[in-house]
Amino acid sequence: MTPMLLQYFRVKEENPGCLLFFRVGDFFETYGEDAETSSRELEITLTAKDSGEGNKIAMAGVPFFALDQYLHTLVNKGYRVAVCDQVEDPKKAKGLVKREVVRIVSSGTVTDPGVLDGSKNNYLMCLFYRMQKASFAVCDISTGEFNVSQIETADLNIVREELERWRPSEVLLDISLNESLIPDYLLSEKIPYSFVPAFPSLPESHEIIKKCFKLDTIDCLEISSSQESLLCCASLVSYLVDTQKSTLLTLRRPKFFIKSDYAVIDSTSKKNLELIETIVGRERKGTLLWALDETLTSMGARLLRNWILSPLIDIKPIQERLDAVGELISSWNTLSLLRDYLKNIQDIERLLSKAVFASANARDLYALGRSLKMVPDIKVLLSKCKSQLLQRMSLMNGMEELTAYLESSILENPPATLRDGGMICDSFSAELAELRSIRHNAKSFIAELEERERERTSIKSLKIGFNQVFGYYIEVTKNNLKNVPENYIRKQTISTGERYITEELKNYESKVLGAEERIKALEFELFNLVRLEVLKYSEMLREVAANIAVADVLLSFAIVSSTYGYSRPEIIEDTVIEIKDGSHPVVERILSSVFVKNDLFLDGDNSLSIITGPNMSGKSTYLRQTALIAIMAQIGCFVPASFAKIGIVDRFFTRVGATDDLHLGQSTFMVEMLETSNILNNATGRSLVILDEIGRGTSTYDGMSIAQAVAESLYADIGARALFATHFHELTSLADRYEGISNRRVAVRETSGEVVFLHRILKGASDKSYGIYVAKLAGFPENVLQRAQDILDHLEASACENDTSLEQQSYVSEKEPVKYRKKEPKQQLTFFAGSDSNPVIDEIRKLNIMEMTPLQALNKIYSWQISINKFGGGK
Ligand code: ATP
Repeated sequence: MTPMLLQYFRVKEENPGCLLFFRVGDFFETYGEDAETSSRELEITLTAKDSGEGNKIAMAGVPFFALDQYLHTLVNKGYRVAVCDQVEDPKKAKGLVKREVVRIVSSGTVTDPGVLDGSKNNYLMCLFYRMQKASFAVCDISTGEFNVSQIETADLNIVREELERWRPSEVLLDISLNESLIPDYLLSEKIPYSFVPAFPSLPESHEIIKKCFKLDTIDCLEISSSQESLLCCASLVSYLVDTQKSTLLTLRRPKFFIKSDYAVIDSTSKKNLELIETIVGRERKGTLLWALDETLTSMGARLLRNWILSPLIDIKPIQERLDAVGELISSWNTLSLLRDYLKNIQDIERLLSKAVFASANARDLYALGRSLKMVPDIKVLLSKCKSQLLQRMSLMNGMEELTAYLESSILENPPATLRDGGMICDSFSAELAELRSIRHNAKSFIAELEERERERTSIKSLKIGFNQVFGYYIEVTKNNLKNVPENYIRKQTISTGERYITEELKNYESKVLGAEERIKALEFELFNLVRLEVLKYSEMLREVAANIAVADVLLSFAIVSSTYGYSRPEIIEDTVIEIKDGSHPVVERILSSVFVKNDLFLDGDNSLSIITGPNMSGKSTYLRQTALIAIMAQIGCFVPASFAKIGIVDRFFTRVGATDDLHLGQSTFMVEMLETSNILNNATGRSLVILDEIGRGTSTYDGMSIAQAVAESLYADIGARALFATHFHELTSLADRYEGISNRRVAVRETSGEVVFLHRILKGASDKSYGIYVAKLAGFPENVLQRAQDILDHLEASACENDTSLEQQSYVSEKEPVKYRKKEPKQQLTFFAGSDSNPVIDEIRKLNIMEMTPLQALNKIYSWQISINKFGGGK
């Protein structure tokens, strides 16, 4: 093999599992199998290269400037790519040019803003289970954001929730992980994962973290409180250092999240509530994110998305956000000025990362400078605000120094390439200014020389030209050849005459062309200097970017709230949810007719409401709007209601409709049961549970029994605030028996056979389903409708005859009842009424019936009969 191919395969061996892209001149090339894969996946030509001794090897290549685009395609298809660049100037190299892998790119380590979605973070996550704890280190190297979180359980459902929250693009796992512990989420969402061969030891972790985050001690980091988090964090850092090969890796110091910093929105709820993508089509339009997003910067867009997925549970920061939104709404002038400034701000976080990874060009630094120019004005406006959060944000660095530096170094509208010059200001370097003046004077020198030579030779048509092959030349037409002086040296014959050079012209040429080359090289050097200077401001830039993102989201909340007439929610610790004139922030916006607003009241004493009403009448909308209003309130946004009092919700759960998870081998009913089971196992007295139909996927009695048992347990065992929409009208009788369960129904107007859904939620239970009416709306044939009506009449008549109500048996809470309040039964067996202290009842309670034989039971009853007769109880 040729020495270069030997070098290629040596590097390839050092980077297993990667496609290797190898810089050769202006191309990145791949060989052998990698060439075949790249050609197939990138649809680029597969050619062959001489591999030595007359043999050929498959080759495919891409131009160096287009590398990022191609990397993006490969990474999206799940490949990892090692980029091997020349690390010395090929002109100066003695023998084979030195090459090294400068970075390894995979889905979690893409940094080019051109290929990343500006409105989303691109997280790489390291997941680590130990000692019943799961730790997550999560980093977006395109913005420098670094987070570590930990949960005190290795329960895969909770691990899944955390994965759902961060939505990583790539995950690193512990190699010793048992296969059954690989989260389903990674498989179902097709998230690429790989294994970390060995986690560092604790002392090593300390050193890695100190070095990366430039710390003398790690005690100042909150993660130092958890060994597992430290190991996880250090593993991710070393992976990044290994794969990105950048000694300049500047990541933000890790933020540590304990799970309880945020309300949990379980994965099903995120989907069902359509927070960031719709259920059908997974689109953005029609989601809460869509309804709230008026952000102007990519940093703001990413933050808004993160806020929506992580509502706060601490009242203070929520109030701070609400204060800020309120102030911005009332000071429209400040709001519009701030937004005008934000419009000029580009993605500072990602521009900085490009600078870190040396992929920034002069346009990026120019854009950075222009963006930073807005910061002082933003600071002034914020400092005039009263709310604490805005005030605090005004303390960010004004970045005047870096702005001035960039303005003095980078030319306006520079080119995208780095090697062709035209990027650096004259005033930035005296040498550059001098070289440019030589280049500039070239034109007048040539014009002068041309004039001089015309006079000297009396050849009027003599002219001086330039081409890439011969450089400068003097051109003389055929008729004038006799007048050519002796010192002209002939270079080329053309159809119209001859071209010559002179000693003077050659000397001048080397000076000018030398200047041109030197300018390009010098500008490249100077640009790198500027880039490195920018890195000194990394910490400040990240802080500024973070503040701008927050300002952008708060402004977005203010715009949306004022445009749609939202009001400020009252946030309290209590377990109340009280909403007046509430609407669904998305449905209201896309509905062509008027949205009917509705009220709601739930609290610790009225924690569960059963909602009945026809199909299509607005039950789901009402349920979802309640959860959305609470989420909006807890992220600090005003809400679509004339009044809202929200007692902090710690977990949001929804069980809505039927969605098959066939790829996971689960039937509709199984999915329904799994989701419900998750709710029953994880909801707390501070949770909000939305149940839209359960028990539909099985026989009526099965379904109804399950639905009732779930409602009773939610109410009695858990005490969560819950809205339960159902078509099982039998469930409405629960309200008669439990004080804290109420009925609500959707109003319907029926006039001469026509049914109008009013979408108004009223107190009380609904007594009809109108299913057949909806079938009529859907265009069922008349005979089928008639037949359905007959069957319904028949069924209703027989149901009246044999009342099968399940509610005859009361539910007894297994757990310590949270708020178990049974209503005094209307019709009850008098024997049990008010009989808490009856010794017979006490004894019945204690019996282990399952272990008794029929004879023992009979004897027991006999003994009671004797004692009742003896003591005269239960007449
Ligand atoms: P099903 O029982 O079949 O699931 P549903 O009772 O849950 O039906 P929704 O899906 O909530 O009904 O609403 C059906 C349609 O009614 C919505 O798509 C919307 O167009 C309209 N709608 C719902 N609520 C309102 C409202 N408050 N004001 C106006 N229109 C509404």
